[in-house]
Amino acid sequence: MGTLSNTYFEKAKTLIPGGVNSPVRAFKSVGGNPVFIQSAKGAYLKDVDGNEYIDLIGSWGPMLFGQAHPVIENAVREALSDGFSFGAPSLKEVLIAEKIVSMIPSFEKVRLVNSGTEATMAAIRLARAYTKRDKIIKFEGCYHGHGDSFLIAAGSGVATLGTPDSPGVTESTARDTLTAVFNDLNSLSNLFDANPGAVAAVIVEPVVGNMGLVIPADGYLAGLRSLCDQHGALLIFDEVMTGFRQSASGYQGVCGVQPDLTTLGKIIGGGLPVGAYGGKGKIMDMIAPAGPVYQAGTLSGNPLATTAGLAMLNLITNDLAVYERLASKGESIKNGIRQQLNSLGKKYTINQLGSMFTLFFTDVAVNNFNDAKTADLNLFGQYFQGMLRRGVYLPPSQFESWFISDAIGDDEIAKILAASEATLTEMFS
Ligand code: PMP
Repeated sequence: MGTLSNTYFEKAKTLIPGGVNSPVRAFKSVGGNPVFIQSAKGAYLKDVDGNEYIDLIGSWGPMLFGQAHPVIENAVREALSDGFSFGAPSLKEVLIAEKIVSMIPSFEKVRLVNSGTEATMAAIRLARAYTKRDKIIKFEGCYHGHGDSFLIAAGSGVATLGTPDSPGVTESTARDTLTAVFNDLNSLSNLFDANPGAVAAVIVEPVVGNMGLVIPADGYLAGLRSLCDQHGALLIFDEVMTGFRQSASGYQGVCGVQPDLTTLGKIIGGGLPVGAYGGKGKIMDMIAPAGPVYQAGTLSGNPLATTAGLAMLNLITNDLAVYERLASKGESIKNGIRQQLNSLGKKYTINQLGSMFTLFFTDVAVNNFNDAKTADLNLFGQYFQGMLRRGVYLPPSQFESWFISDAIGDDEIAKILAASEATLTEMFS
């Protein structure tokens, strides 16, 4: 096909591994070639061939208010004239730290980094130093970035490519990562019992986005908290996806469970590269230069990223009703697609919480990674391609969440549902 996207992708493959800078973008599990994006505004992405798509990725989460929101755009434009990077302290770092600490009750102190991966790597190093223990527990199908310790039974792109354990991770590193089943307290309790006094931390996505969307059962996160307390391990909530997407105080503000440490990313950079980790002051003060645990970054606290993040967090606190609007949009999409499936006599599973959403092509209720893996990936690929042809850009993998933005209005919901109806009808009748 003679599209510019195809031409660019062919060239990209000669220069960049697989032609992309992050694996899921390559459309490997859904077939076909990726489209190259030229620009993005509000609810829409435009590709290099001039096609428009309703954006249901939102840069994998950051675009809570839609692409290139004018308030964030103007703030970044203004900040640009003051320079791009100082490598020295600047006031906006303090202001965004103050903002995050004021929004999420479990944060007393916070350190900014450049990605979610950096945040999770630093958080487990800190947990190990604080508890003087080596092992961590994660959950099958959760994704915490590409740090070695997390590439064990990982979700997201690693699950999409079918390589949940990556070559290149040494056996000794892998031995220190234990994996439990999400939504199953017994599986965690058994791991604690089998490794007495050895577990530094349990890290969890409190609402999982990386197996596709999986919602914690009632009381499950409180159960994690008490098992961690019982066994002297820290509880780390990886809220890189859920932080400021599920509420203005993270998912911890919704479920009422306070972790010891939390990792953030995505939304707190408003689309620019940022991550953060934080929590109790007595733990965070072990980080250099306050304490001995080393972690640093040339571009950490970058003035453009902190400006965008601060503008985003101010947008949120000035408009807390955004979460109700997003939940109602999520529900409209869910109800619409459910009706379509019902009329076609299909019993597929939809998980939706607020603005996060996954349609799983399985009739099994999806509460953990094994449930998610029962989904028919071939059907997901057909659905993805049908939606793309009809102008809706979904995450190109079954094991991801869709992200609904506030820029998606009634018109876009109608277009998404029309595209879905035509696609499902084409697939099943
Ligand atoms: N944790 C979670 C829960 C994530 O979803 C992701 C990325 N999708 C990461 C960590 C890693 O973040 P980054 O891609 O910014 O390194």
